[in-house]
Amino acid sequence: MKPILFNFSDPELEKFIIDMGQPKFRAKQLREWLNRGAPDFASMKNIPESLRTELDCIAQTLPVKIVKKLESSDGETTKFLLELHDGEQIECVLMRTTYGNSVCVSSQAGCAMGCRFCASTLLGLKRNLTPNEIYSQILIAQWELRSDRISDKPIRPNGDANNGDVSHIVIMGTGEPLQNTENVIGFIERANREMGIGWRRITLSTCGIVDGIDRLIEWNRPINLAISLHAPTDELRSQIMPINNRYKLSDVLDAAWRFTDNHNRQLMIEYILLGKRNENGETVLYNATPEHAEKLSELLHGKNCMVNLIPWNAVDERDFASLSGNAVHRFQDILIKNGIHTRIRRERGTDIGSACGQLRLNNAKNK
Ligand code: SAH
Repeated sequence: MKPILFNFSDPELEKFIIDMGQPKFRAKQLREWLNRGAPDFASMKNIPESLRTELDCIAQTLPVKIVKKLESSDGETTKFLLELHDGEQIECVLMRTTYGNSVCVSSQAGCAMGCRFCASTLLGLKRNLTPNEIYSQILIAQWELRSDRISDKPIRPNGDANNGDVSHIVIMGTGEPLQNTENVIGFIERANREMGIGWRRITLSTCGIVDGIDRLIEWNRPINLAISLHAPTDELRSQIMPINNRYKLSDVLDAAWRFTDNHNRQLMIEYILLGKRNENGETVLYNATPEHAEKLSELLHGKNCMVNLIPWNAVDERDFASLSGNAVHRFQDILIKNGIHTRIRRERGTDIGSACGQLRLNNAKNK
């Protein structure tokens, strides 16, 4: 296995370069390229070509390699399938928006949570990602944005807030971040320190691991917290999210309010709207009836939160059905009537299988 230079400390990198018979300053040049996310040695233009070729034979730049890169037809979303040194694959997604550039990162290879609607968990958990492996996903996105600039691709959309760098991070890719809490915290600290991404521009999404939320409270940084709720009662939630057998809804929400109250932050609630097919082949509401909307309103009444309604991205292996736009609006109208802040999450990159572990799953199926 080739050594991964990004994982070297400065003294280790210097020793490596000197052992190759090269002057010390090359280590500094290399480090600069690595910190910018150079995915290969060929991009390192101020390093002589002969050395670049030699390095390519004996070493790897980042802990992740791009296996596939897909771009949505509107040019706003780029999805990467990445391979780790042990052959595991993960996904990350770059979303260019009017308010900035947001990267959705994975925290684990696979997932152990077993949520019934999700593709990421179908092959189980392979392993936790290291802080460097999570951070590299941001670097890959940053490098891509740099390519946009070099190629004169219009930075889209041209919002004033969008200066062409990664500005927001959402930890909503494959995996449960609060099953890998210390590495995720290490990653966030680094993104804040080295890339200058503010705490308030970082969102961690969890299926509701109370111990992990308590750890975040102790860590005490004002990041945004998102809870994947998806059902307003324990009975229904336990049917689609096995984690609910361990941590009950009220305990999860109590912990979440404790976290957000500390920093006066709004809690994000994620709610996928699911349908099921009946024996006549018609789609019936699963967690999206008017009664569910009323129950959800009761749970959240008077609290500082935003309900993100998420249209379900169909996964072949799962027997749910997506709902029509009208059904989503009817559900939302009840929340609005009850004074609950809510919005419908815009689907991005559905034409490139950008939803939740689909790319990784399809690649594994085709192997
Ligand atoms: N494990 C964390 C983060 C990863 S999932 C969590 O559960 O929050 C990120 C979000 O995508 C979660 O809200 C998850 O429930 C949702 N999701 C999973 N599969 C989906 C699908 N097929 N369509 C839409 N959203 C999905």
